[in-house]
Parts: sequence; structure tokens; C-alpha cells
Amino acid sequence: MNLPVQNAAAVLSPKQSARLELDGLRRSFGAYTALDGIDLAIEPGEFIALLGPSGCGKSTALNCVAGLLALSGGEIRLGGNRIDQLEPEKRGFGMVFQSYALFPHMSVRRNVGFGLTMQGIRGAEADRRIEQALALVRLESQIDKLPGQLSGGQQQRVAIARAIVIRPPVVLMDEPLSNLDAKLRLEMRAEIRGIHDQIGSTTIYVTHDQDEALSLADRIVVMSQGRIMQIGSPQDLYQRPNHIDVADFMGFRTRIAGRVIGISGDEARIEVAGAQLTGTMREPLAIGDQAVLSVRPEDLVAVEDGNGMPATVVNMEYRGRAFFGLAKSADGSDLYFRAEQALPRGASATLQPAQGRALLFKGKGA
Ligand code: ATP
Repeated sequence: MNLPVQNAAAVLSPKQSARLELDGLRRSFGAYTALDGIDLAIEPGEFIALLGPSGCGKSTALNCVAGLLALSGGEIRLGGNRIDQLEPEKRGFGMVFQSYALFPHMSVRRNVGFGLTMQGIRGAEADRRIEQALALVRLESQIDKLPGQLSGGQQQRVAIARAIVIRPPVVLMDEPLSNLDAKLRLEMRAEIRGIHDQIGSTTIYVTHDQDEALSLADRIVVMSQGRIMQIGSPQDLYQRPNHIDVADFMGFRTRIAGRVIGISGDEARIEVAGAQLTGTMREPLAIGDQAVLSVRPEDLVAVEDGNGMPATVVNMEYRGRAFFGLAKSADGSDLYFRAEQALPRGASATLQPAQGRALLFKGKGA
């Protein structure tokens, strides 16, 4: 008889939980440096998202941790012991890929049990673990099917069951939801976090989707060009990006370049095209410096009157609660903004950052 799902946590929680340390990880492909000194300490049970644009090195970092790629430099330690020279099987990490990577000719039971067989776990113990892993992903009834007889979402659940059945100290996931449709992605997102919480493993999750990272992770690691740009809680990253590229990636799409004309506390005022705009300094600025104001589309608002950035409307879309649009400034910059009402193409608009919602960084913004 099957055990209740609640027991899955006891059956599947990691045999050992230990701190995972990445110390100066480097990886080159020929002359190209894909990882350029990654330092990160991950506590047992943490859910870490590696977030960044395509090509920034997220998958390379994950594959180095998994042991699928050798390091060009640096060390990986688990519980203080070096593991970067161990074969992937010896590291014992669970892996989930975008492509599911199931064996098409094997039943769900055999796919999930594969890693156990490799570890020499057979018989009743293997059956118990397989059944619990499938219960956790709600696929007990599909145990005798082949992967081809399952939907994409179900196949990815099998892949998750296969990853956790070996009770890995660390689960590595590389864009596991990218092949699923939007609704299923949301459902599976919640399931992945739920499973992580139940079994208490450490998870490293690669994504280029900021919503996914914000909703899943305890800490987000933002990468760019093989380096870590910022590490922080979802709230930190969302509200207080410390670099303009991180801000851009976290949805601060509009950049307005100007010159600092006043400073008060952590706020500065910049002058641009005759208008004055205020933002919170994320880097030290002095009067006369060139600075870039970064703001999210929902926080740059078309106002009827008052001071603001003059712009010409290019287009507008209705998005339920409000209209969102693109306008051009006199110098040709793209300004993404929000308005209560549709404005006709070619209309003049005055755009103003909502109080306390714009950030200021050093530089010219190009
Ligand atoms: P994506 O989200 O598109 O998967 P990523 O952030 O995961 O991107 P990586 O796959 O880690 O990026 O790749 C980082 C860089 O290293 C890219 O420029 C890529 O072209 C390069 N790269 C990755 N694997 C190899 C390889 N085997 N040989 C040569 N270059 C590679």
C-alpha cells in the first residue's frame, strides 16, 4: 500500500545537507571567457535563482556545479570538501533540464528509478522511493506509461521526480519551465517551490525570467557577461538594483540621461530637456555629474500638467487596468510609460516618474 504524500518529505529529504561554496569559478571556451570568477556561498535548504540575459553564463555555471563541464579555475566545495574533480554521479546532484531528457523507451517507473539503480538501490526501497517521488509530483497513476504518452507538464514532473528520488543534497534546474505554456508554467512554479520546501533540499534554478526568479527564490544572483552583478533577496533586487544593467533586467526599462542639479539626502534632481526629474541615488552623485534616471513603465506616468519630461507618443496598448505606451523624447530616447487614457499617436505628452520610484545611476546611459 502507498504511503501518504506527507511521508514523502521523510522518505525523500536529502541524506545530508551542507553548505555549497563556489569559489572563483572560471570557465573558458577557447579564447572566450564564459565564467569570470563566480563567488557564491549557498546555505543548506536555500533556493537560489541564477538570473540574467541569454549568454551571460548561467547554464555554464550550473553545468560546472553539476560536473558536466570541467572548471578552468576555482573550486567547488560541499560541506567544506572539494567536489570539483568528482564525476557528476559522485556529486550525486539531481538535475532537471528544459528538454526533460527522459528515456523514451522506459516507463515512468524505470525513468524515475534510473538513478536509484545506478546507486545500487533496488527492490522494496526503490519502489517506495519511486512511489513517493511520483506522489510528490502527483503522477502516481501514470507510473506504467511511457514518456511519449504524457503531456509536456507531466514529463517535466517525471524529470523532477527522477531528480529528487536519489535524495540529492542539491537540485540543479536549468530553465525547467521554458517548454510549457504560460498557465502551466505558473502552476509548476508553485509546485517546484512546494517540493523544495517539503524535502528541504538546496536548489539552484537557472532562468532568464525575472518573474520566475522573484516568485521562487530566497536569493537571486544576477549575472552578466560571466560575472555576478548583484546578489540579494527578491525584494532587494526588485526595489534596490545597484547597477543600471541589473535595473534594466529587473524591469526599469526607461533610461533618461541628464545632469545633476540638486541633491537632498539620498535623492537627486536632474535636468533634462528643460525638465527637472527626481530619483533615488543608487550610486554616489555630485552636482554637475551626468546621471541616468531608470524607471519602470508603470512608474512613469503621463500627467496633464506639472513638471515632467516632454515626449511624443509613438504607440499605446490597453493592458486591462491601464494603458501602456512608448513615447520618444526630443533626443530620440525610448520612454515606456503608463497613462489612464489612450493618447493618440503623435500627441505631446508630459511624463513624470512616480514619487520615490525612479533610480539614479552614474553615467550617460548609452
Ligand atoms: P541561455 O539563457 O541562452 O542558455 P546562458 O546564460 O545560460 O544563456 P551559457 O549557455 O552559459 O549562457 O553560455 C555563456 C556563453 O558561453 C555564451 O556566449 C555561449 O555562446 C558560450 N558557450 C557556452 N557553451 C559553449 C561551448 N560548448 N563552446 C563554446 N562556447 C560556449
